[in-house]
Amino acid sequence: MEGAFHKHLYVLGKEKYLHGERPDVKCILCGIVEGDPKVKSLRLFESKYHLIVLNIYPYTSGHLMILPKRHIIKMEKYRKIEWNELHILLNNAMEIIGKEYQTGSFNIGWNIGPYSGGSLEHIHIHLVPRFKSEIGFLELIAGTKLILETPQQTYKRLLPLFKKIKL
Ligand SMILES: [Zn+2]
Repeated sequence: MEGAFHKHLYVLGKEKYLHGERPDVKCILCGIVEGDPKVKSLRLFESKYHLIVLNIYPYTSGHLMILPKRHIIKMEKYRKIEWNELHILLNNAMEIIGKEYQTGSFNIGWNIGPYSGGSLEHIHIHLVPRFKSEIGFLELIAGTKLILETPQQTYKRLLPLFKKIKL
């Protein structure tokens, strides 16, 4: 189990997970792009058109988001050059996380529009690594979220690896 999983499990309260502490900014993701000190973020990589950040309230360890630096709210506003870069970044991120967390399983997804379950209108893609050992039922019965490490620990682990990305 060494390497892929840690000995400790962390429990995040579901309330906090769902609502977070919303910073008072017009758009949280634009706040991240602009480096607004009111918005907490764990930036892993910056490219010409995108940022890769760790999710502060992850579904699993290594859960990250890739967001366009422009405030895009509709998919059709994405330009071809941005699509290309996005997919190259996604591949790089999957490779890094797959190796570091020893998994080949991921959920990749968008939440688009007000009824999608997403809470931010500035579009972004989620990359969620999945693990055989996830303890899903506990989160159902106890109303808590179990993750393998804190986002700060994940960040420490991943930042040096993302620094090596060459586009
Ligand atoms: Zn925005």
